[in-house]
Amino acid sequence: IDAAHFQLAEKFTDAGVKYAMGAWIDIHGRSKAKVVPIDLLSDLLAGSERYTPRGITGLGSMEPHEDEAVAIPDVSTARVLPWDRRFVWMAADLLREGEEPFDQCPRSILKQQLSRARELGLDFKLGIETELFVFRPSDDPRSSYLAPVARSGGLKPCPAYDAEATLDAADFLDDLVTAMQETGFGVYSFDQEGGDGQYEFDFAYDGALEMADKISFFRTMVRQIAKRHELAVTFMPKPYTEAWGSGHHYNMSVVSADDGRNLMTDDEDPRGIGWSRLAYSFAAGIMRHADALAAVVTPTVNSYKRLNPRLADGTASWAPVWSAYGVQNRSCMLRLPRNRPAIENRVVDSAANTYLAAAFLLAAGLDGIRDSLDPGDPVEVALVDSRDAGKSNGVRLPRNLLEATDAFAASELAATVFPARFITEYVDMKYAEWESFHATVTDWERDRYLYSL
Ligand code: GLU
Ligand code: MG
Ligand code: MG
Repeated sequence: IDAAHFQLAEKFTDAGVKYAMGAWIDIHGRSKAKVVPIDLLSDLLAGSERYTPRGITGLGSMEPHEDEAVAIPDVSTARVLPWDRRFVWMAADLLREGEEPFDQCPRSILKQQLSRARELGLDFKLGIETELFVFRPSDDPRSSYLAPVARSGGLKPCPAYDAEATLDAADFLDDLVTAMQETGFGVYSFDQEGGDGQYEFDFAYDGALEMADKISFFRTMVRQIAKRHELAVTFMPKPYTEAWGSGHHYNMSVVSADDGRNLMTDDEDPRGIGWSRLAYSFAAGIMRHADALAAVVTPTVNSYKRLNPRLADGTASWAPVWSAYGVQNRSCMLRLPRNRPAIENRVVDSAANTYLAAAFLLAAGLDGIRDSLDPGDPVEVALVDSRDAGKSNGVRLPRNLLEATDAFAASELAATVFPARFITEYVDMKYAEWESFHATVTDWERDRYLYSL
């Protein structure tokens, strides 16, 4: 028994913790874990828990003869659950027989990309703006409008930032934010987003792996705390036709692996905007691969209903449809904000698996750096729909999951980021998801055609 592990178990036991879990993250970003009594912590850390993960990762099907995978928890991610102190959560890597990364382990996929960046002397930091909807659960999940925890009194086109909609949900929000602060999030603001029951939580940026671990924990935490208030939370990107969707804007920065210096800015920028060549190349790499990236950063059928510049009533949705970049410009995929040395990617949505999205975005950015790409001049006008083609330095993003999956399946870059078996099974899963959606006759069709055709 490793002495340090033993001490850790003792520390947890003294704090009243009874159980530990080394959670690996499935394809949808959910924590999956067996729970072990705390006195078996050192066994857990050494890989005592084995899983038959294919099929429950959300990908593919388990072959009966296939080896089990072993979960190796990362103690640096340990967090006692603030809402139930009997449990401690850790993020785990899934390894084959405790050695090679399991090919569908999102955490291992991100770690590999980060080590490639380090070979170039670079590291990757992320700040994620988490948007989500909170509602009162209904016995009938198909009822067309779930009751939001609070309604915004703000009139369109500015239903956002409604102070009363935040105060109306204060009991839940206070519990959540207190728990976030206790578990190291460094929250600096939260507010009501554009929809009724939609909120955004903003907290300190961190290394990409640390941030992905936090988001995994956050998904579990926010749902568990909501349940204690008889509420439910959804990370579904676009639950309502009439309301804004939920983005997860990724604020991406490349820093020196040696001293952590931020490499995104440069006072000598010939464009006079203050960004470095490296930052422009990183942006251009992401623009180059935007169509394949879509299959991972906007991974569901529903995601593409959010990527629509306008809501049904014509007001703005604030979700981009162009792979373009601009300064401050919220209608572009990539926004160079004036107040922070990071590129904001506004396409990523709340359904994205943070590890997979971060890994693929980093690879795309590094590809741009390797090829010294330049994205051209920033777009200065609002890009609304396909008619704005000539005004953009980018291309129209995929219009649906089918287009995105086609691009992902054909992507040479994807083949360097994801193991071959991951790609085959991810592509199969996404095509099946698309086909199932496409084969379903909807109310929209009956409303439109039944009596008129
Ligand atoms: N909720 C919007 C989206 O779907 C973003 C609004 C904002 O700019 O924060 O991305
Ligand atoms: Mg927002
Ligand atoms: Mg934002």
